[in-house]
Amino acid sequence: MNAPMKNSIAAMLPDLVEWRHDFHRHPELMYDLPRTAGLVADRLRAFGFDEVIEGIGKTGVLGILHGSAGPAASKEKRVLFRADMDALPIEETSGAEHASAEKGRMHACGHDGHTTILLGAARHLAETRAFDGTLVFCFQPAEEGHAGAQAMIDAGMLERFPVKGAYALHNWPGMPVGEFGVVRGPAMASADGVFIIVKGKGGHAAAPHTARDPIVAAGHIIGSVQSIVSRVVDPFEQAVVSITAINGGEAFNVIPDAVEMKCGFRCFSETVAATIEQELWRICEKTGEAFGVEVTVKRPPLTPYPPTINHPAETEIALEAMRAAVGPDRVRDDLKPVMGSEDFAFILRQVPGAYVLIGNGASASLHNPAYDFDDGAIPHGVAYWSELAARVLP
Ligand SMILES: [Zn+2]
Ligand SMILES: [Zn+2]
Repeated sequence: MNAPMKNSIAAMLPDLVEWRHDFHRHPELMYDLPRTAGLVADRLRAFGFDEVIEGIGKTGVLGILHGSAGPAASKEKRVLFRADMDALPIEETSGAEHASAEKGRMHACGHDGHTTILLGAARHLAETRAFDGTLVFCFQPAEEGHAGAQAMIDAGMLERFPVKGAYALHNWPGMPVGEFGVVRGPAMASADGVFIIVKGKGGHAAAPHTARDPIVAAGHIIGSVQSIVSRVVDPFEQAVVSITAINGGEAFNVIPDAVEMKCGFRCFSETVAATIEQELWRICEKTGEAFGVEVTVKRPPLTPYPPTINHPAETEIALEAMRAAVGPDRVRDDLKPVMGSEDFAFILRQVPGAYVLIGNGASASLHNPAYDFDDGAIPHGVAYWSELAARVLP
């Protein structure tokens, strides 16, 4: 059964590479993906999908494909495969022939590759229909910081199509092309952040006693938040708290009125995230009191990302599919978690599933201006999805 499937993937490879280069040339950001989402929906229709839904979660696309025995009778016969479509606000320096034609935008996270791979699997599985049940192909917008997966959930994706499992992949520079890997359990961190505004009373730098210096108070806050990870969080948990911006003042001789900071924090459990948040609020409030300034902590208008946690049974199924796709010795099941975050986490919070990594060779790192997705990974990705379909809906 393996050989013909792989041949048919090989036959579609020139098309897939062309599609990937086309997506790469025309990157679109966040929810503003008319070209990318339009092409995805057109192709799913051309493959003969049973249903194609556009505009779910603003610009998300769902493709519904029934197996040879017809539509799923229940949630137990329905599974979701997800890819992300958005690019990043980065000026590309890769020098590739298919480099971005859009100023200040590029596919620096390889979502052009993920979308192409899932389209390849969609085309292949629409031809074979070699699974029993219904596959929900989810192409999401706004993975890069604006919670596109949550927007699709909010738009009713999982109520309209309840699924028993959900799967996604991400390319991984530094892991050879043709290899796969997975982190068991917590795989990627949560991502959250707040503004800290320290409001004092400005004045002449020569007369600090007539002012309430927000810079000194801000300095104490910066120092104190370092103790959250070292003194408050359980040493067996992992977390990062970073002050990532500080703005206030201009002149040598003026104490400013206010200082504004940004603080980002990440960890691998929602309990630890709640502890960090609580401690951060407490430190800010009490330091403000100690220095006679007013400190407010404000959330940006962004949805925090929860940690991405792989579920055990679904991880085993994903491992079997990866081993079938590239051979058992090219699959690693012992990867370490990373502090980056991923919005597939929103889906994994509601549905058991697995998020796996596919080798992307020697390319520059993710989010680097010189990055380019390695086309050599495409057939392996398509083979993974196809093997997975046969296992999750046998
Ligand atoms: Zn990214
Ligand atoms: Zn990404």
